[in-house]
Amino acid sequence: MAKIQMKTPLVEMDGDEMTRIIWQEIKDILITPYVDLKTDYYDLGLVHRNETNDQVTVDSANATKKYGVAVKCATITPNAARMPEYNLKEMWKSPNGTIRAMLDGTVFRTPILVKGITPYIPTWTKPITIARHAYGDVYKNVEMKCPAGAKAELVCTDKDGNESRETIYNFECDGVIQGMHNKSTSIASFARSVFNFALDTKQDVWFATKDTISKKYDHTFKDIFSEIFENEYKAKFEAAGIEYFYTLIDDAVARVIRSNGGYIWACKNYDGDVMSDMVATAYGSLAMMTSVLVSPDGVYEYEAAHGTVQRHYYKHLKGEETSTNSVATLFAWTGAFRKRGELDELPELVNFADCLEKATIQTIEDGIMTGDLYLLSKLENKQKVNTEDFLKAVDERLKKLLNV
Ligand code: NAD
Repeated sequence: MAKIQMKTPLVEMDGDEMTRIIWQEIKDILITPYVDLKTDYYDLGLVHRNETNDQVTVDSANATKKYGVAVKCATITPNAARMPEYNLKEMWKSPNGTIRAMLDGTVFRTPILVKGITPYIPTWTKPITIARHAYGDVYKNVEMKCPAGAKAELVCTDKDGNESRETIYNFECDGVIQGMHNKSTSIASFARSVFNFALDTKQDVWFATKDTISKKYDHTFKDIFSEIFENEYKAKFEAAGIEYFYTLIDDAVARVIRSNGGYIWACKNYDGDVMSDMVATAYGSLAMMTSVLVSPDGVYEYEAAHGTVQRHYYKHLKGEETSTNSVATLFAWTGAFRKRGELDELPELVNFADCLEKATIQTIEDGIMTGDLYLLSKLENKQKVNTEDFLKAVDERLKKLLNV
């Protein structure tokens, strides 16, 4: 077959360790034989980030703003142990954090469901997408220990020097206090990203805070969401046949457990941190979780939710066989191709993305899977394969779906 032609390049962000190995294998086995791949390539591997003083991360985020769609491989966020391992000049910041801040984006995480792997909550027959607000609250807090006898106050000084004060607590014993903030602009960006993503994927939005207790802080989130929805999205949601639903966080948790899935659950920063791990675990595996960063002006960066699978990489380096799950990384590529195909009006690229996803799911449902899924799957005919053989098994099915 003639290779599928692309119009606009994808921004390609290469990464580290085992996922870097998988990245190349996916391209060689499942993409370049079928697509005349055009990418604007950035090597976000730690070696190159260190060489460029992390400029490459900034450049890749700027390219994403320019072209609109990126696909990213997992990358190492350096810690103390990585300093000697990679001979680093500095403990470079998380690339995801840098890119997220530059795109002002919201991260959406969605599980990939396959037969044979039942969620711990059996009623969850459709995926629950968690949208986590990625700015502020406890992640940008200021904390203090207070000695007995201390009076703790909250003080806000406006630009003219006027002070507003509230007593937090008069301490009769030792204690602790914490200050947090968020910004209306960031909450508004979060709301728009969520509503846009809902329209894109034709799913309802659930949002929840604790506004009954936090009458100013959490209530501001509720009010901003409500105002933006009423003014900018209500009519579009009605036309698309989807809903925006607000409730209290405790009520939301109870409803989520009783639900069948199939909606976007927008969460404040901390709620999203906790709930995305709960949801990922409940659906079965981190390696089956996709992630997309969406900016309020419609820029998309697709990736796997998991990290670089370091332990498998060390095995790979020793020449031992690995059985690493490539599904979430594959779905990062298909997500990016589908979006690029939609934006550039290339139905054949959208169809390629659909077929590749279908082939991947078929492979697992036929019983061929990597070690992590082998432990979870209830299929009787299951068979554990290595990293490369899984991709080859997907390719056999992809060829059939593409009629080549
Ligand atoms: P990890 O996601 O790589 O691994 C966590 C656990 O899940 C491990 O037991 C691993 O074996 C298993 N696992 C994850 N993905 C798997 C897959 N595809 N197939 C089979 N098993 C899989 O996270 P970690 O070990 O905490 O971190 C390793 C490195 O990844 C760190 O340097 C960290 O900074 C980086 N990291 C990057 C990202 C990102 O780029 N988005 C996210 C998380 C961690």
